[in-house]
This record gives sequence, structure tokens and C-alpha cells, in this order.
Amino acid sequence: MNADPGAGVALIEDEIVPVAEARLPILDWGFLHSDATYDVAHVWQGRFFRLEEHLDRFFAGMDALRMYIPHDREAVSNRLHDLVAASGLRDAYVEMICTRGQPRAGSRDPRTCTNRFLAFAVPFVWIADPAKQETGLHLTISRMQRIPPASVDPTVKNYHWLDMVQALFEAYDRGAETAITVDAEDNVVEGPGFNLFVVQGGDLATPATGVLPGVTRRTVIELGDAHGRGVQAQSVRADTVRGADEVFITSTAGGVMPVTRVDGALIGDGKPGPVTRALRDAYWRLHEEPWYTQAVSYERAAGVRHGD
Ligand code: PLP
Repeated sequence: MNADPGAGVALIEDEIVPVAEARLPILDWGFLHSDATYDVAHVWQGRFFRLEEHLDRFFAGMDALRMYIPHDREAVSNRLHDLVAASGLRDAYVEMICTRGQPRAGSRDPRTCTNRFLAFAVPFVWIADPAKQETGLHLTISRMQRIPPASVDPTVKNYHWLDMVQALFEAYDRGAETAITVDAEDNVVEGPGFNLFVVQGGDLATPATGVLPGVTRRTVIELGDAHGRGVQAQSVRADTVRGADEVFITSTAGGVMPVTRVDGALIGDGKPGPVTRALRDAYWRLHEEPWYTQAVSYERAAGVRHGD
């Protein structure tokens, strides 16, 4: 590989190539119709975090969309390990994707498609980087409704992001950095790549429905339970977010990230709050726990071969 693998590598047709050279056929329905599911795991200091949970969600998503790939969990896991090893990245954002593929020439019947498995590993991505986490994010509650669960199941990780991207532009127009979408009843749901939590009087709540069950969200719920601070999964009104003591978002792309302004108004004293900070620190400490992590074997990088 001539290009710098540290810029990222991809798995296309079961071959590892520099990410800049990775291409998808234009007739693939993953591209033409967002007919795909995917998952994103991360590697921190050379170790995958909760990879099994990401694999569970990825395989469940493929089942729900009637997709099939000729690799079992172990084979996918091996490919992701090999990909990160080939990149040499110690902190990586690792995406696995299944697209519908393309129907037989002249047909629009998805049953004639051969589904396609792809993956890539690139340098770690932050929605809010560590410096931004010190001040906290400015979030707007978007006027944009998330595509309803009756149309697209949000528990299947999907590329239906036109609402999210419009919400982001709306946020930039209003001087904010990111946005949360709402449902038809004006409850907040999820944002571009994250779940949301509010802290009120020491109690935590996060939207129960209309959201992807994030692996980071789950980790925060477990941490809350372990520290005697139960998290309620329930409807969260837009006004509850505006009036909360603390607000934070969770994502594989950055972990637990404080929100200190909502729609221009300060949350609390406008600084990341104590509950958010404690959960953020606990989240990163879990990255040292063998039970939650898997070491990448970087020595596997040379001469990677796949064979199930
Ligand atoms: N909601 C949406 C729509 C997402 O795309 C993501 C992750 O990308 C999340 C929530 C957070 O999920 P996780 O914590 O598993 O990254």
C-alpha cells in the first residue's frame, strides 16, 4: 500500500486498500436509496471498546433488513481487527457496513441483489473534542422532526440522515454547533450521531423511543446503575431539556460530551456539570477494563489473509 495507512484503510471486495481509494459501484442501492445498515465501533489506545455489542447491533440490523453476508460474527470481527492493524491507528473510528448491492440488470427487485460488506478504519472522530468538552457544546432543539419510527426503524442503524443534516444547517444558522431532532409530540429524540441525556435534581433521563439504542447510551445507563444513580428511559420534552441542570450527549464519536447552551440560553452555570464530568471520567476509565475491551494485534498487519 503506497498511501499512508494512518490516514485510514478500507475493506472493499475483501481487500484492504487506502481509504482514499475505496470505491462503491454507483448502482449499489446503499448509495442510490440509503438501503444499508452499518455500525461504528472505536479503538482507543490500541483496544476495541465493546466490540461485541456493536456486532450484535450490526447483525440484528442486517436481519431486520433481510440482508445477508457470507461472514459470521467471528469473521467480521477478524476483518475489523485486521483493518485496524493494517492502519496502525491506536485511536480509530471503525465502521462496518452492509449495503443492499445492485439488482439484476433491468430489475428493481431487491431479492436479486447480492448484499455487500464493507468496512473502514480512520483516525478517531470527535463530535466535541477534548478542548470543546471543557466548555461544552451549544445545541439547538431543531424544528426538524426525525423520520418517524413507523417509517424507518431507528433501532436499525441507518443512513436516513437528510433530517439530521438539515437540523445541523439550522443549528449553524442559529449560531449553535449541533442539533437534536424532535418527534411529532415535541419530545426530543436523537441528533446526528448521538443520544441525549438530561440531569434534573440529580436524576437522569434519556429518550426511550424513536432512538438508536446507542452503545455509549447503554454504557452510561449501566454506569448510572452501578453508582446508584438510576437513569429513566422516558419521553423527554423539549422544555425539559431547556430547563435541565445538566445536558449531555453520548456517541461512539467522542463518548460523554457536555452541552452547556441550548437554543442560546445557558444550562446551569454554563459549565459542564458534576454529574456529566463524573460519567465522562467513568466512561473513559472503562476503556482500561479487559472485560469491555479487546486488544488489537498490530503484528497481524503484515500479510493479512482472509479465509472463513
Ligand atoms: N443515534 C444515532 C442516529 C447515531 O447515528 C448514533 C451513532 O452514530 C447514536 C445515536 C449513538 O450510538 P453509539 O453510542 O452506539 O455510537
